[in-house]
Amino acid sequence: MKDYIQYIIRFLLGDSIPGEYISSVGYTDDPRQYDKYSIVIRPCGFFDSTTYGKTSSIPSFPLKQLDRTPLLFGETTEKMIGDTLVLYADLVASSFFLLTRYEEMVKRSVRDEHGRFPGKESFPFRGEFLHRPIVDEYGLYLRNKLRQLGAKLPAEKQSIRKIYLTHDVDAPFYCRTWRSIVREIKNGQSIWKAIKTKTGKLEEDMNYTFPWLFSEDNKLRAAFGKERCKPICFFKGGGNTKQDKPVYSLTNKDIKSLFTLCKHDRIEIGLHSSYQAGKEPEQIVKEKKKLESATGGKIKANRHHFLSSREPEHFAFLLKSEINHDFTMGYADVAGFRLGTCRAVRWINPGTRKLTSLVLHPLTIMECSLSEEKYMNLSYEEALDYSLGLINQTALHRGELSLLWHNTSLQTGYLKNLYSTLLDKIIQIDSENRQQYK
Ligand SMILES: [Zn+2]
Repeated sequence: MKDYIQYIIRFLLGDSIPGEYISSVGYTDDPRQYDKYSIVIRPCGFFDSTTYGKTSSIPSFPLKQLDRTPLLFGETTEKMIGDTLVLYADLVASSFFLLTRYEEMVKRSVRDEHGRFPGKESFPFRGEFLHRPIVDEYGLYLRNKLRQLGAKLPAEKQSIRKIYLTHDVDAPFYCRTWRSIVREIKNGQSIWKAIKTKTGKLEEDMNYTFPWLFSEDNKLRAAFGKERCKPICFFKGGGNTKQDKPVYSLTNKDIKSLFTLCKHDRIEIGLHSSYQAGKEPEQIVKEKKKLESATGGKIKANRHHFLSSREPEHFAFLLKSEINHDFTMGYADVAGFRLGTCRAVRWINPGTRKLTSLVLHPLTIMECSLSEEKYMNLSYEEALDYSLGLINQTALHRGELSLLWHNTSLQTGYLKNLYSTLLDKIIQIDSENRQQYK
């Protein structure tokens, strides 16, 4: 069995399943092999060289339903052949399609003005299941089939495995440079007020909301413990396009104060790859080195500015830069499970089908996806409701929750209030889940 297929079966079954059960699930259409396995998933032909990578390989609607979970490939029928249960639902191809961004590879011409694949054009959004991690639903289905055959598998426990509270630092300060003073004066601000902001306390700068964000993050970390809750700030290390402005120094005293605050509050520092690096991914190496030399620490995590990780293959440049964790995988225009899962998953390059060591951490919610008119345009109540839906799905499948709140968004509408409320609700949901399994 190819390593990426083996990995997908392992991923579907989950990491609390004993090894003997993993090897009892096969993926073959050769009947002579069936008796080696308790369950055989029958390939539907998705990986055949005649269809793989072609537009015709994209499934069409309406989808068949496998126990109320949309099935992308294969049939919902199953047969007992000897002692082997043969599933015609191609759970491997269906998962591969979602986990690897296969659709984005096939539909190269579908991109928005920033070169991103739009969430609202995506197969899961059009099929109305972007809010459900259906790969994890396939996993549950497969475990239940093993149970039906007598496997003694541990019962699923509802709990959030890990939470990443993340902040992309696009503009750490509002008015702390001479250039920003000139901008303010041009915008009609009084020169004295602008100078006062520049020379006053950092905490009085409207973008410097980090002390508040970190104190909120620390509340959640106190409840979850430092292993389960990790705050990360992603800083830019370059970029010279219009979308990369403002370019901020990584060596002046203000940014050094922010690095010190991160260190004090044990906030990890990650790379916020620039918009330019979205177009020219070879820039990532340089940007990472620049950030490492400014912070004096090793950078292990990345998120792209504008979430503009354009082509699936571009992840290879993260590996080249020795970055092993990416947090970009959400759509800007609609929150949900872009990779079809709420769990961290290793990147399989859909072009080469190579299984790599890069771990993709799904981005569950970016705040502006909820609120911006051009994205989801939700009211406070709707945004809270939709977010709680995603959080509950994550807990149901023991997934990772990753929230993105920018330091610059706290003055915008309900977003500050929503962050606080969501963190309180997460603590409440987690405590209820723990009570349930006492
Ligand atoms: Zn950004």
